[in-house]
Formats: sequence, C-alpha cells, structure tokens
Amino acid sequence: MTDPADLTLGEAAAELRSGSLSARELLDAVTARAANTEAQLHAFLTLDRDGARTAAEAADTAIAAGEDLGPLMGIPIAVKDNMCTRGIETTAGSKILSGYEPPYDATVVSRLRDAGAVIVGKTNLDEFAMGSSTENSAYGPTHNPWDTDRVPGGSSGGSAASVAVGSSIAALGSDTGGSIRQPASLCGIVGAKPTYGLVSRYGLIAFASSLDQIGPFARNVGDTATLLEVVAGFDIRDATSFRGARPDIAGGLTAGVAGVRVGMVKELMGDAIAPPVRAAVQRTIDLLDDAGAEIVEISMPSFDYALSAYYLIAPAECSANLARFDGVRYGLRVDGETTETMMGRSRAAGFGPEVSRRILLGTYALSAGYYDAFYGQAQRVRTLVRRDFAAAYEQADVLVSPTAPSTAFPIGAKTADPLEMYYQDICTIPLNLAGDPGMSVPVALDDDGLPIGFQVMAPALGEKVMFQVGAEVERLVAFDSRPALATSEVTLP
Ligand code: GLN
Repeated sequence: MTDPADLTLGEAAAELRSGSLSARELLDAVTARAANTEAQLHAFLTLDRDGARTAAEAADTAIAAGEDLGPLMGIPIAVKDNMCTRGIETTAGSKILSGYEPPYDATVVSRLRDAGAVIVGKTNLDEFAMGSSTENSAYGPTHNPWDTDRVPGGSSGGSAASVAVGSSIAALGSDTGGSIRQPASLCGIVGAKPTYGLVSRYGLIAFASSLDQIGPFARNVGDTATLLEVVAGFDIRDATSFRGARPDIAGGLTAGVAGVRVGMVKELMGDAIAPPVRAAVQRTIDLLDDAGAEIVEISMPSFDYALSAYYLIAPAECSANLARFDGVRYGLRVDGETTETMMGRSRAAGFGPEVSRRILLGTYALSAGYYDAFYGQAQRVRTLVRRDFAAAYEQADVLVSPTAPSTAFPIGAKTADPLEMYYQDICTIPLNLAGDPGMSVPVALDDDGLPIGFQVMAPALGEKVMFQVGAEVERLVAFDSRPALATSEVTLP
C-alpha cells in the first residue's frame, strides 16, 4: 500500500471521501515523514502538532457527518512562516520577530481553516523572504531533499522541500521575485505565482508590497490549481485585492495545447542558462510543438534591465515596510539610554546582513537627490517591462522559459557574493514587475539527479491558460521522480 504521505492532494481527498483513509491517519503519515526527514532538511520552523491533530479530528468528524468542505478537507498543508497564524509563532525567518505570536490569522490561513485543511506547521524561509536559497534564515538553512548538501532554492525553500518529501501534501509560499517558482524548480515540484491581487496579502508580512503575492505548491499541476482556488478571491482587508469575479483557474486542465500560441523568450535561452537546463527546456518546447502548439520566438529587450530595476524597487519598498520593526511594537528589544538608541540597537541585533543591506540600499535609492536617478529610473524600466509583456501577448497566449538558470547549487556556494545570488532570479523577476502569473513545472533531472523546472507565464488573470499549458507539459514529459529522502524507510541518522 502507498504510504499516505506519498499521495497527491487529489488522491488523498478521494481516499478521505471513500473512507479508506482518515484525516488522522493521513496526518500521522505526514508527521512520521517529518520525523524522518527534518533532521536532514530543516524545512519547518514550527510544527503545530496539537493544532494539526485537532483539525484532523474535526475533519474526520465532518466527514463522518457527511459534510463536504471541499477538496482540502483533512489535507495536511504547510504555510511559509511569513504568513500570520493566530497564536502560533510567526518569525518571517528573522530574529527580530522571534517569539511573535500574531493575534490574528492571515486571510489565506482563515481560508485554509474554513476549507477544513490541516495546517501542519510554519516553514523556513530567507529572512523576510529576501533571498534565493533559504540560507538567509536567521534559524539556519533548509537543505535540498534531492541532495542535502545543496540549497532548496528560496525564499520559500521550507515549503518546497516539505512538499517534495511528503512532510506536507501541499503548501503556501510567497513570490516577490521568484520565491515560489525558483524553489519549486530546485525541489522538483510544481509552484505557481498568481496574478498580483488575486490572493489576499492581508496577514502576509510585507517585503515589497507592489510585488508580493502568495501562491501554492503541490506535487502536480492540478493540485496546485486546487489549492489556489481555495485561497484566491477578493478580500476587503487588502486594498490591492482584485475586485472582479475570480477568474477561471482549473477550467483548462485537460484541454491540451492544440492551437495554443507558445512564445519562447529569446533572452532567457542564452548563455546565462546552464546547458542541461536549456536542453531540457528546448525538449519540452519540442514536445509542445508536436502536441499541436504553435511555437513562436519572442524577444523581450527590457528583460536585460529587469533584475537591476527589481533590486532598486524591492529594497526601496522593503526599507519602508521594515520601518515598523522598531523594538517597540513587536518581538526583539535591546535597551538603550534613549528611544533612538533602543531602536537602533534592536534593529542592529534583530536584522541579518542581507536584510540590513536591502534597507540601506532602499533608503539610499529613495533619498532626496537620488530618488529620480535610482527609484524613478527603476519605475521607468518597470513600465518598459510591462510594455514588452503586452506586446508579447499579442503574439502568444503564454510565454515559456527556464525557471532558474541552473539546478540546485551547493550550500555556501553563493553566499559570499550577493550579486551572484540575485542572478538566480533572472528568469522569474520580470513577471513580478508586470504583476502577471507564472508557474514552474518539473520536466527533467540533470546528470547529478537534480530537478529542472519549466516556467509558464501568462497575461494578468490568465491563470486558466497557464495551468492548461502547465498540465499539458506535465502529461507530455511524464516527470514522476521523487527524492530518495521521500521514503518512510529513512530513519534518523
Ligand atoms: N530572490 C529574490 C529576492 O531576494 C526574490 C525573493 C522573493 O520572491 N521573495 O528578493
């Protein structure tokens, strides 16, 4: 019999309904998987054993009473630790929030609870989601389940690693410049960044508010769409929440790609991309071609400047957002003779080096005299990126590229040079600047047995065609590898 921790969300939901599996048994399997893998992975910062047990029992009671709260009822879900969970420590991977127990749930968390999901715990991340490897967590890195000497990607590395090994069935992450798609790619699972505004940011600890977006991880495309359907939708508490009717998300999953115009982004298929990654992406494009898609090559000249623009806009917004952590309102306080010294000391002790670097960069970029040269210029590039996307979507229904320029790199390999780390996001950042949706689907393993992800981008509110193409990619490549660590036989070292 399959270990329940290895079931997909769809399979587990069906078994829960047929009565062949209880929510409690499913939770026990996932908890056992965590017990067998956490020493090697460190995917979680907090495991909420009691809360999860109560939720699983409630799901079993509901099922026994014939209630149906939908596809997440009784499903173990992990939540990135930058989303507020009432009464459960929420640190955003930072010392400055150590011990902080929010008095409220983020909207996505309430939606999960209302749907009967079992929240298993809070996952590790780069401090305040700033990073591409989860090495910037103040609580130590997460390891890649395919090779524990390597990074899982970031910043949502804990969520991605957990879903990959089965210490959760699906998870939520956040994506400001690639933090869902890039770790999904490096961990060999599916991850999607929805259209800006589709999922409420209420209760998401803000990094760069014009870019931040919450989204789903799962082991296949359909399950990823299912989780997004539950958390998406208008929220009065988020001023940037999309007010229209929720767009169709899962309606195209079995529609195939005949006649779909697929644009291959020329700038993201060059020398900056590792040859095995480029080859796997090209093979996937060829499969789409054979399946009836119309392949067009598209040039996005502004992409050459997108990374630089992002690394001005994101730090500028972060410098404003992180001003609230002043030693008065939340978490850590280091005393001083005056309020100002107390604040200075608390911030110096509470923020790690990357977060401090971003606050400094952002403050500088926004300061009088430099504002126009840096922040203003970056905003103009943002407009150019939007225009390139608008023009591209005249010729194509979706755009495709690699998700990340390489497969998972060794822990420590890029920590000495921030620019090299920033470079990890060249493929993912452009669409955050435009506010569009994008997803990563695993398509191959390289010669070292490390997963390669394929990115599908779509116009704003184009989730349906994005998941449609993603699902066809999944069918065509039939990637079904799992990391060796994802077996219940692994025992603690
Ligand atoms: N790696 C990018 C950064 O460091 C993106 C992070 C994210 O999407 N949260 O800013």
